[in-house]
Parts: sequence; C-alpha cells; structure tokens
Amino acid sequence: MQETYTDEVEVPGTQNAEEADIRDTDIVFDCPHCGKNLVIDYRGAGLQINCSECGEPVLVPIPDGMELNDLDLDSGEILKQLFATRRNYQKAELQIQALKAKLVQLQETLGVMQEVVAEGLVES
Ligand SMILES: [Zn+2]
Repeated sequence: MQETYTDEVEVPGTQNAEEADIRDTDIVFDCPHCGKNLVIDYRGAGLQINCSECGEPVLVPIPDGMELNDLDLDSGEILKQLFATRRNYQKAELQIQALKAKLVQLQETLGVMQEVVAEGLVES
C-alpha cells in the first residue's frame, strides 16, 4: 500500500528510521499517529504521505533553515519555490486550525449568551 502524493517530484515513501540507511539530506521525524520514528528523502518535505508503519497520512515537516544549496542541487530554484509554497501551505493549515479552535470558543460563548437571554426572557 504505497499511495504517495508526489506532485511531480519523485519522492520515496517513509522508512523505519531504525532500519533505514539515513543520509544527511533525509528528514527524520515521528509519526503523529503511531509515534514511529520515520525517515524520508528531503524531497518529501512538506508533503502529505502515508506512514509506512500505520498507513495514516502524515505531513512531512520542513526542517527549519533547510537550504537547498546545502543539498548540492542544480534544480534548486524550482524546488525552492516548491518548498516555499508548501511551507506557506503548512502555515495556512495551522492558521485554519487556530481559527477553527477560535470558532468553537465563539460558538460556546454564543451558546452561553443565548441561554442567558433565554433565561432572561423567561424571567421577565
Ligand atoms: Zn504511523
């Protein structure tokens, strides 16, 4: 079961970090679902892939300060843009999550206010 979302860049799936031959350019992270220590090729940064252990979709973190120049690449510019896009996408996802949490809070507050109003109407 290897359903890997690759958007035009060939990206190998995750591997168990304990068994894998980790290169300097690989990204090592923990699966948020099963906690397995995973390793993936740097080109997987920012992609949603399926955990090789539990099969759940996981978002590969983009290492802070990841410099493509360090990776000895020629096609750097396109990848740089790709990474920037993915990074922005991840930020947007986080903002959406924060806004959703805020919305839940507001709905709860609204619910309380509606109860108060309803009680007030009953009393008067
Ligand atoms: Zn997992």
